[in-house]
Amino acid sequence: AKDKGRNQFAVFDIEMEQEAQSRRMLLRDLQKGLDKKEFLLYYQPIVAMQTGKIVKAEALIRWDQPLRGRVNPGDFIPLAEESGMIVPLGNWIFNEAMQQLAVWRTQYKSDFSISVNVSPVQLLSTDLDCKQWLEKLAQLKIPSQALVIEITERMLLESDKISDENINTLQTAGIELALDDFGTGYSSLSYLKRFDINYIKIDRSFVCNLHRASEDVALCQAIIVMAHQLGIQVVAEGVETQEQHSILLEAGCDFGQGYWYCKPITAAEMTQRLVQENLK
Ligand code: C2E
Ligand code: CA
Ligand code: CA
Ligand code: CA
Repeated sequence: AKDKGRNQFAVFDIEMEQEAQSRRMLLRDLQKGLDKKEFLLYYQPIVAMQTGKIVKAEALIRWDQPLRGRVNPGDFIPLAEESGMIVPLGNWIFNEAMQQLAVWRTQYKSDFSISVNVSPVQLLSTDLDCKQWLEKLAQLKIPSQALVIEITERMLLESDKISDENINTLQTAGIELALDDFGTGYSSLSYLKRFDINYIKIDRSFVCNLHRASEDVALCQAIIVMAHQLGIQVVAEGVETQEQHSILLEAGCDFGQGYWYCKPITAAEMTQRLVQENLK
């Protein structure tokens, strides 16, 4: 029995070593990918619920790695966060999204705005150069209100000086804040007190089972009422059906995002959408 136990440990060691090895390779590929411009942004329209018109878009990163193929953010953002790579990658995301936004605003829709996901690790980093971000906006003539930063409470649980400072710097400049995945964390409500939040994004898990008989109807209604009383606007994420859309609209939800309206699309496809909207 003793021998068997030892063998099991040996197997465990090998698995751990293989896991560590594959993470090192992924990290190496991530770093290469940034140099070789293998990343791209997709955009998912956010519509005004009342009119169905596209008013904003969320930027979502994709990675086309020559050997691995299309890698989704869920499979590399965590490692980018652990390794600190998310700081340079996040700067790339910001610059790319803002250059695109400048084009869309000048050519197709002058009041368009973009939501960018910003990782807690970026906000916790002293390397995050908020000043450079603000300079970039000025240089592109984008008013800061046209940028929404989506934050999650994940890993920002403890009050933290650097992240609060970074958030305050951006917000004082006029950048708007959205609380992402609302309702899934431990401290969603305390976040509403700690920061001056402009938008709440109701997490997909509350929307996906939303039908007339579901208890989630009451939850969504309550979130919307509370948000509005605090002067916060509400975006529902993961809207996939007409029924979910109608329930949320009836409940007074301001914005919707999800496959029912449009899946995430390339910048070129997004441009086409904006052209079509202009023709309507
Ligand atoms: P998220 O911020 O909650 O983004 C929404 C995710 O839901 C996206 O997945 C989007 O494609 C997906 N989605 C949108 N509508 C629907 C729908 O109707 N049904 C379903 N089932 N899914 C829908 P994606 O693009 O794979 O991104 C996953 C997560 O990765 C994001 O969750 C975000 O946390 C992170 N992420 C994505 N892009 C970035 C980025 O540029 N920076 C950072 N830091 N994180 C990012
Ligand atoms: Ca988001
Ligand atoms: Ca979300
Ligand atoms: Ca989510």
